[in-house]
Amino acid sequence: KKITIAIDGFSSTGKSTLAKQLAKELGYVYVDTGAMYRAIAFFSMQNNYIKTDFLDKEGLINHLSTIRLEFKFNPDLGFAEMYLNDENVERQIRTIEVSNFVSKVAEIPEVRAKLVQQQQEMGKNKAVVMDGRDIGTVVFPDAELKIFMTASAQTRAQRRFDELIQKGDSVTFEEVLKNVEERDYIDTHRSNSPLVKATDAIEIDNSNLNREEQFNLVLDLVNK
Ligand code: C5P
Repeated sequence: KKITIAIDGFSSTGKSTLAKQLAKELGYVYVDTGAMYRAIAFFSMQNNYIKTDFLDKEGLINHLSTIRLEFKFNPDLGFAEMYLNDENVERQIRTIEVSNFVSKVAEIPEVRAKLVQQQQEMGKNKAVVMDGRDIGTVVFPDAELKIFMTASAQTRAQRRFDELIQKGDSVTFEEVLKNVEERDYIDTHRSNSPLVKATDAIEIDNSNLNREEQFNLVLDLVNK
């Protein structure tokens, strides 16, 4: 049985780790929709639509049609990497600068319309596990399995901080916590497709679950 699996939730709840594990185990296609929003934020920085604190929405909207996003599978890594107009931007989209702007870019209705359409095409008639904020509510409201992941902001900031430090980024814990809380706020308060749990989603709070426990829990749900 091949199903659509939607994984939504707050930032840094480990959605992508879980989604990748599931895709590998089940032989499904994995789509990281956050990477697509991040790529558009990166594009905005590259093209000066973002200057210090100002986002030139008009400028970005007028150039949305020139943005081509693609995932290409990297067999060495075992997952797909994000390409923006044929350039591999996987590394550039994970910086704290992009994280600080991405939610503002994701608020723009034109941006969401473009990405939602592409996501629906990518998942159409495929065994897919897709993670994001609006997969179970907007992109695939008919998904057979919907997971909504939560964890305390402290727990999430600590995970994100450890990851960034490991990559050699020089950030402080406070900076990361502030970013996590700001994104939570914007993601849950925006007027279009705010982050909400789909009524038929299963909520998993993983503050006190390790990866394996969580994986087995979800795998049981898939096999039900
Ligand atoms: O999942 P990730 O943290 O990489 O997503 C980055 C940001 O992109 C989120 O904070 C959110 O603002 C936005 N996003 C979204 N809808 C999605 C996926 C991500 O608005 N489906």
